[in-house]
Amino acid sequence: MSNEYDVVVIGSGPAGYVAAIRCAQLGFKTACIEKWLNKADKTVFGGTCLNVGCIPSKALLDSSHKYMDAQNHFEAHGISVGKVEVDVPAMIARKDKVVDQLTSGIKGLFTANKVDGVAGIGRVTGSNKVVVTNKDGQQQELVAKHIIIAAGSVPIDIPPTPVDHETIVDSTGALEFQEVPKRLGVIGAGVIGLELGSVWARLGAKVTVLEAMDDFLPLVDRQIAKESMKILTKQGLEIKMGSRVSGSKLAGKGAKKTVTVEYTDKDGEQTETFDKLIVAVGRRPFTDSLLDESVGVEKDERGFVKVNDQCATNIASIYAVGDVVRGPMLAHKGMEEGVMVAERLADKKTQVNYDLVPSVVYTHPEIAWIGKNEEELKAVGIETNIGVFPFVASGRALAADDADGMVKLIADAKTDRILGCHIVGASAADLLQQIVIAMEFSASAEDIGLTMFSHPALSEAVHEAALAANGHAIHIGNRKRRK
Ligand code: FAD
Ligand code: AMP
Repeated sequence: MSNEYDVVVIGSGPAGYVAAIRCAQLGFKTACIEKWLNKADKTVFGGTCLNVGCIPSKALLDSSHKYMDAQNHFEAHGISVGKVEVDVPAMIARKDKVVDQLTSGIKGLFTANKVDGVAGIGRVTGSNKVVVTNKDGQQQELVAKHIIIAAGSVPIDIPPTPVDHETIVDSTGALEFQEVPKRLGVIGAGVIGLELGSVWARLGAKVTVLEAMDDFLPLVDRQIAKESMKILTKQGLEIKMGSRVSGSKLAGKGAKKTVTVEYTDKDGEQTETFDKLIVAVGRRPFTDSLLDESVGVEKDERGFVKVNDQCATNIASIYAVGDVVRGPMLAHKGMEEGVMVAERLADKKTQVNYDLVPSVVYTHPEIAWIGKNEEELKAVGIETNIGVFPFVASGRALAADDADGMVKLIADAKTDRILGCHIVGASAADLLQQIVIAMEFSASAEDIGLTMFSHPALSEAVHEAALAANGHAIHIGNRKRRK
């Protein structure tokens, strides 16, 4: 294998592997470097998302949801299953199998598309040079017309609660518990904290989430955030807002080890003792030993590689995509950036629409949103028509006995153009996608209202919210009634 490439991608997470595959499809000779080693010390492709992120967390969310359903909801459907028990090691092993299947899948896609997967740590040593060091310390130099940095991100560790990978863990450790902790603390009520807290709460842990900020899910529409908090609390998650963690003490030995967390809330200093603690306070871009200073690639004060809207760095031959650059740390955002860079290298004019990056919290029910929320629009003085449709009025949601939540659709009062959609409810991620597509085509609420939706389907709630925005929903009373 010659060491000269059109494109060398560093990192094979969703941003990197998608960039590499698209480059190869466009006829570029492409290599993708990956340093990730699995439990068997083998190089695996797929990055955070496939190994310790999106996929394993959803595998455990789905397993724990089935357990909770069997325990609490089957009876209402007239199904009795006797004593429902959970085998945590089996659940974790299934999750690992899903991960193996998908990471092997990326390897297969590389072979099919003729991307050279290169094992080792990549370091940019020149504007067209990358040195790869493999796990045995052997080095090779790759020469590339273009370099795409897709090195991703890692969990943030905070001084009050240093991760010991046993009692105090990060998101990766929280995917590996071999038994259900009796008392589980989670620091951070962000997406990752809520998802992992939900997994273990459903399996029987008493979960307390400590969050420094006063507002729950601050990026989410307030009405939807409030409803989500209500539903999650009803499910047994204790979410303590305005609680800033300032210290921790480990005690005991072996299985009896505990951690006492110190935090401050409006009433002063507090402590709480847990059997396990998950630190989920965010992620930082990972650029450790990635770039030789002499190359001159600029980073911002938080360590993100600086890029423009097309993901070009200040060095003409070097691009950066995914979690290692500004913007939401989401797999789909990185994937689209990967495609954009590949296509721009092929002289296409591809853009990423950063105004339409959907966000989802995969709790049950899911919380999903796109575009602007009511508060943001009010703050800039845009008049809106708002339609809200509760799932309790959806025939399909009631038939499924899964009717928590609502769809909220916001349209411009003057033009009727959809400006945002916010959903808490079963399958919110998939329901929201209809509005993401509609907004990409600049649709109006009326466009959605005039579209025929299958009956009975959860998506009828999206239809009805759009009708409600213009005052003529059929299956609920309307805030404003119009002809
Ligand atoms: P990464 O996936 O982090 O991949 C970067 C890769 O680069 C890694 O494999 C790393 O080993 C490799 N690398 C780094 N430096 C080097 C080097 N010098 N040489 C060689 N290789 C290198 N996002 C969603 O959109 N939906 C979700 O549901 C979701 N759930 C999540 C759940 C959890 C628990 C976590 C932790 C994250 C979740 N995310 C989710 C976020 C998502 O995983 C990231 O946004 C996404 O993986 C970023 O992709 P990336 O390609 O930029 O980086
Ligand atoms: P996210 O960035 O969405 O993953 O969420 C991480 C959350 O952790 C944010 O909401 C932070 O406010 C919260 N957080 C960070 N540090 C602390 C701390 N010391 N105590 C409690 N919450 C924290």
